[in-house]
Amino acid sequence: MSDAVNQVLIFDTTLRDGEQAPGFSMRLTEKLRLARQLDRLGVDAIEAGFPIASQDDAEAVRVVAREVRRPIVAALARCAPKDIETAGAAVAGAARPRLHVFIATSDLHLERKLRITREACLEAAIAGVRLARRYTDDVQFSAEDATRSEPEFLCRVIDAVVAAGASTVNLPDTVGYALPDEIETFFRAVLARVPAASRVVLSAHCHDDLGLAVANSLAAVRGGARQVECTVNGIGERAGNASLEEFVMVTRVRRDRAGYGTRVDTTQIFGASQLLSRVTGEPVQANKAIVGRNAFAHEAGIHQDGVLKDRRTYEIMRPEEVGVPRSVLVLGKHSGRHAVQRRCEELGETLSRFEIDQVYRRMIALADEQKHVEDGELMELVAAVRAEAAGTPAPRRPGLRVVGGTALDGAPPPPERGYGHGV
Ligand code: MN
Repeated sequence: MSDAVNQVLIFDTTLRDGEQAPGFSMRLTEKLRLARQLDRLGVDAIEAGFPIASQDDAEAVRVVAREVRRPIVAALARCAPKDIETAGAAVAGAARPRLHVFIATSDLHLERKLRITREACLEAAIAGVRLARRYTDDVQFSAEDATRSEPEFLCRVIDAVVAAGASTVNLPDTVGYALPDEIETFFRAVLARVPAASRVVLSAHCHDDLGLAVANSLAAVRGGARQVECTVNGIGERAGNASLEEFVMVTRVRRDRAGYGTRVDTTQIFGASQLLSRVTGEPVQANKAIVGRNAFAHEAGIHQDGVLKDRRTYEIMRPEEVGVPRSVLVLGKHSGRHAVQRRCEELGETLSRFEIDQVYRRMIALADEQKHVEDGELMELVAAVRAEAAGTPAPRRPGLRVVGGTALDGAPPPPERGYGHGV
């Protein structure tokens, strides 16, 4: 890895690979909203779609290209004239258009899927890149199933597409089969065997079939890749792509080991994750790293006590760094007195020692019946304890389910939790 390079390019494919997954298709207006958020997020390139796939896809690429001006806007095309013409027309209005042409290079794909010879594949790759260059100088070539391709042949293809004018060469682990040490060795070998490869940006596109997409992307960069393809919430074909938020936060939290960073504004991560979830109607897995609703939640008493004393005891990054306003202490039956006291203070109630004991006991009893105790319910307990101590009836409103403290006279509204639970 060259010491001079300390930035890795983020190529976001949420709107293309991500959108291809069942249940994740998006309408044009939704794609545009996400593209604008990806712009705020600071990704280097947005792959906006696969224009030959449908008229809607082509139109979405055209609109994103016209409206989102800072990042590169890429369109995908097979190495076929009609695909490239359609994609070229779709990105023509972009401030920074990129054409992304691809063809499979593994024998399995060539023989069983495309039913062409290696020589025909090589010719199609060269012709595809040359044609794409008529539309834009920024041409990316992908060797689909690169990690299962015969190395000698793959190197010939890479050498040829660089000569034909590709400035980025993407080597996908299309089926999520590789292991991190293999990926690192693979990229190193390409750079060692193909002199032309060091004149272009090598890119990784890793899938998560074995849960290794982010680890493999990091390994690819160690091996010499300078662009990583990823998606918000890790969505994508099958088990998905490398998760943008995970890759970016690894390079930030462990900058000491990674030695490089990205241009992503991490405070926009949570907003992007929530927007995608709302738009697609697909909730984010609760324990998803970085953006899941439990990612910064602490329920166990020992953990809550530690976090309240010093967050670094159980948090390796601050929730604000990724756009989550603050940690969420989930009150449940494992919670301690300290957490109850802190939550009450956050809700504007300072309790005496006696009150804390009383509220705590009732909270535990309530948590035995239901999983979690919401802010509104906690405030109801506080009011009941105080009313009993004063000899007056508890201010309950029969039949009214208290949510978020709004049903209690004079109770302050709860602070924003920052989690939308993905609609
Ligand atoms: Mn893919």
